[in-house]
Amino acid sequence: MRIRYLPETLINQIAAGEVIERPFAAVKELVENAIDAGATKIEVDLTDGGKSKIVVKDNGGGMDQEELAACVDRHATSKLPGDDLVNIQHMGFRGEALASISAVARINIQTRQKDGEGWQINVEGGKKGEVSPSSYPAGTQIEVRDLFFATPARLKFLKSERAEFMAVKDTLTQLAMANHAIAFRLTHDGKESFHYPAVSDSQNRLAKILGREFGENSIAINAEREGLKVSGYAGLPTLHRGTSQYQFLFVNGRPVKDKLLYGCVRAAYADVLHGGRHPMLALFVNVPPDEVDVNVHPAKAEVRFRDPGLVRGMIISALKLALHENGARASSSVSQAALGKFQSDYTQGGPRLPLHRGGSAPVPRSYAYSSGGYGNLAENIQENYAPQGSFIEDIAPTARMEMGIDEPEKVAELQSFPLGAARAQVHENYIIAQTPEGMVVVDQHAAHERLVYEKFKRQLEESGVEKQGLLSPEIVSLEESEAERLLKYAPALSKLGLEIEAFGAGAIAVQAIPALLGSKPNIDALIRDLADEITERDTAQGLEERLNEILSTMACHGSVRSGRRMNVDEMNALLRQMEETPLSGQCNHGRPTYITLSLNDIEKLFGRR
Ligand code: ADP
Ligand code: MG
Repeated sequence: MRIRYLPETLINQIAAGEVIERPFAAVKELVENAIDAGATKIEVDLTDGGKSKIVVKDNGGGMDQEELAACVDRHATSKLPGDDLVNIQHMGFRGEALASISAVARINIQTRQKDGEGWQINVEGGKKGEVSPSSYPAGTQIEVRDLFFATPARLKFLKSERAEFMAVKDTLTQLAMANHAIAFRLTHDGKESFHYPAVSDSQNRLAKILGREFGENSIAINAEREGLKVSGYAGLPTLHRGTSQYQFLFVNGRPVKDKLLYGCVRAAYADVLHGGRHPMLALFVNVPPDEVDVNVHPAKAEVRFRDPGLVRGMIISALKLALHENGARASSSVSQAALGKFQSDYTQGGPRLPLHRGGSAPVPRSYAYSSGGYGNLAENIQENYAPQGSFIEDIAPTARMEMGIDEPEKVAELQSFPLGAARAQVHENYIIAQTPEGMVVVDQHAAHERLVYEKFKRQLEESGVEKQGLLSPEIVSLEESEAERLLKYAPALSKLGLEIEAFGAGAIAVQAIPALLGSKPNIDALIRDLADEITERDTAQGLEERLNEILSTMACHGSVRSGRRMNVDEMNALLRQMEETPLSGQCNHGRPTYITLSLNDIEKLFGRR
């Protein structure tokens, strides 16, 4: 066989296989060209998910006759004035997109520069027609018909029209996020899918695209160091999703799907979101062009940083700082959801309270106050809710006084705290607190879990987790392999306050536990949970890197389980601790620890507004 040089059209078709995978990739290249041409308005029209036709119109600078003839040639570009790939200022630089698209489709380009004449050209499967005059008003329009007609093998891999359309929509949405000063409009089969007018700041555009919920439940990120800039909006941990597809990442204005960056997001939220949940965010990383190589991926979806460590450190610390500063904040969408729940109960006829009609219906004892005045109310509370000695370990049961709910001065004083003045505990797990604007409902177990976890972390940082020896070791029997695996980590667990030793085949003797777990934790359950956790990800990461996750598992066992009664002083103490503890707005699994209901909303529920 003889070596031969491939013909130009075949070379372009091969390149198209890499660059133009599906209609969305063609749209991406065409829209990036429009952005590079300085457009302030870009319109994309699709027919049949882009399979039959894609039209991209812009009001950018346009091309003259000569440029139009050259633009579909391979490696023809106006964007690399110098001969290096170091200082890339545009979205494009390889000069192969138009060559690739026109090698596999039928295209028509119409263009006109300001004060110039209009021109057009047709290219079919790589065969270039003549440049001829056009009446196109200003800017450029590129029409792509029958994508992949020239490469039928590729055509077979296209998905349904709907799926192709959705991919185009996602792509264009990301470009719209990164370019708020450009108006974007997308139509499909004649129907408008979205229209984002040009706006003066990025927040505006993001709120329009990601919705009000994101707007209200996200934190602005703004950090700058050594020419590196990170900005954007990070969702509160309580606004989590099941996939990472709501994480929008941009490097120098380019949408990227970069492993390093996803890793940064994961690391920054690791402490507040476990269990496979993903935060929502839009993050813009800007670095000097010579700090990043954008030429590592055919579709430019990945990048390589010259100093990945610097970028990583910067992103993680910017995100963590923002999360910590807003740590005690739980998402407003949580209260919104709660409110929606109330309302839907209401429309279904309301919760079935034991209504007291004409004094004849049987009324449970705890509701009997309506017949007997306030004296009975106090008695009922005393009987039903007052703490009993056996439930409270650290505080003497002087119940009547400590209920404190009828001390107006105390309430007035405490309600100025962010989480307000505790007024009651219901279902032995929910604290109801009063604030000047409304009320707060706290999930005491979730809140306590976060508090214990944060204390653990502080101890670990300062002097190691404090231990408390057991008078007699507790023996836990496990599967033999589980016990072995756990024992392998005995030295690491010891740093976390847990002393374990082998106790014959398949059993473990626990000698000491973290002091923070209190006097009666369920050691058996703790060891089993730890064994599960270690088994699950034994190979993925070393234990050293997961100390925090282990601590979090332990914290869960040291937390006030739901079902523990608390008096008002204890409740208030918990609220004050929450206010002082970073990240206390969510438990270690990203669940909110409290929700707020404003008086305004409460009044709406009662039809007073
Ligand atoms: P690249 O964008 O890498 O330069 P392309 O093949 O995408 O390569 O485009 C080739 C050239 O055609 C561009 O460099 C630009 O000069 C010109 N061009 C393409 N699209 C437009 C447009 N919408 N408006 C003005 N010029 C364009
Ligand atoms: Mg281009």
